[in-house]
Amino acid sequence: MTTVAGATTRLIALLGDPVAHSLSPRFQNAAIRAAGLDGVYLALRCDAERLPGLLRGIAAAGGAGNVTVPHKRLAATTVDERSEAVVRTGACNAFWYEDGRVHGDNTDVTGFRAAVRELLGGPALGARVLVLGAGGAARAVVVALALDGAARVEVANRTSARAVQLVEDLRAGAGATSLDALNGPPPREERYDLVVNATSLGLREDDPLPLPPEALSASAVALDLVCHLGGTRWVQLLEAHGVRATDGTEMLIRQGAAGFERWWGVPAPISAMRAALAPRT
Ligand code: NAP
Repeated sequence: MTTVAGATTRLIALLGDPVAHSLSPRFQNAAIRAAGLDGVYLALRCDAERLPGLLRGIAAAGGAGNVTVPHKRLAATTVDERSEAVVRTGACNAFWYEDGRVHGDNTDVTGFRAAVRELLGGPALGARVLVLGAGGAARAVVVALALDGAARVEVANRTSARAVQLVEDLRAGAGATSLDALNGPPPREERYDLVVNATSLGLREDDPLPLPPEALSASAVALDLVCHLGGTRWVQLLEAHGVRATDGTEMLIRQGAAGFERWWGVPAPISAMRAALAPRT
C-alpha cells in the first residue's frame, strides 16, 4: 500500500474551477490505496486558457485525470481521440495517454447508466423519463437514456431555448427513443417512470426544489444528480412522499470507477470507493 508520494508516483488530476469541494480526491485516493497502486489524485483549479496545456502536459508525462465544470466541452476539443460518448455529448470528463495520443471519454454517461441499473434493477429500457435541466450533465443523461433504449425522454429547463437546443443536437443519435423539449412545467397528468434532476438546484441549502414531490406519481423513481451524503433535501422529501429516490453519489462513484479502469487498467475497487463516501457517524 502506497502512503507517501515518491519519484515514481503517477499524477491523476481533476481540472476545473471550482474544484475545492470535489469528492473525487476522497474516493479516488481511497481506491488507489485499496488497489495498492503508486499514484495520487489531486484537484487542480485552472482557467480555460491553461486547460489544454495542463491536460496534454499531464497526459504526456504519464498522468491522467478528470475534467469538471466549466471545461468539459473545451476538453472534448483538446483530446486527440474521442470516445463515442464524447462525440455524442460534445463533452469530455476523463483523459489518459495511450499509444502516443491523448484519449478522452465521457464517463458521466457510463456512471449514469450504472446508477440507473442500481436504482431500477436494470436499464431504463422502455421507460418514460423526465429530465430536468439542459446543461452538460443533462446531455450525458439523454445520451445514456437513448443508449439504454428509453421509450420517451422529455427535457424541461428554466431556459426553455436551451432544452430545445439540446433536443435538436441529440435527436439524430436518439435512435428509437422519442426525444422532446417541454415548454413550461411538466404536465401533472403525465406518469413518468423515472425523473432525473440534472439541474444544479440542491447544491445550495436555500435552493428551491427542482420539482415539488407532489408532481411525481408514487410509482415514479427519482435520481438526483446532485451529491449530498445522506441524500439531498429533494431526495428526502420525495422519500417522505413515498417516491423511491437517490442522490448522485452512486453515479459519481460509477463515473469515477470507469475513469479509474481507463487510467490503471485494473478493476475499480468499488466497495472502497463507496466506503470512502459513506456518511460518517
Ligand atoms: P450546467 O451545465 O451549469 O447546467 C446547470 C443546469 O441547471 C441548467 O439546466 C440550468 O438552467 C439549471 N439551473 C441552474 N440554476 C437554476 C435555477 N435557479 N433554477 C432552475 N434551473 C437552474 O451544470 P451541469 O454540469 O449540467 O451539472 C448539473 C448538476 O449535475 C450539478 O449539480 C452537478 O453537480 C451534477 N452532476 C453530477 C454528476 C454525478 O456524477 N453525480 C455528474 C455531473 C454533474 P439554465 O439553462 O436555465 O441556466
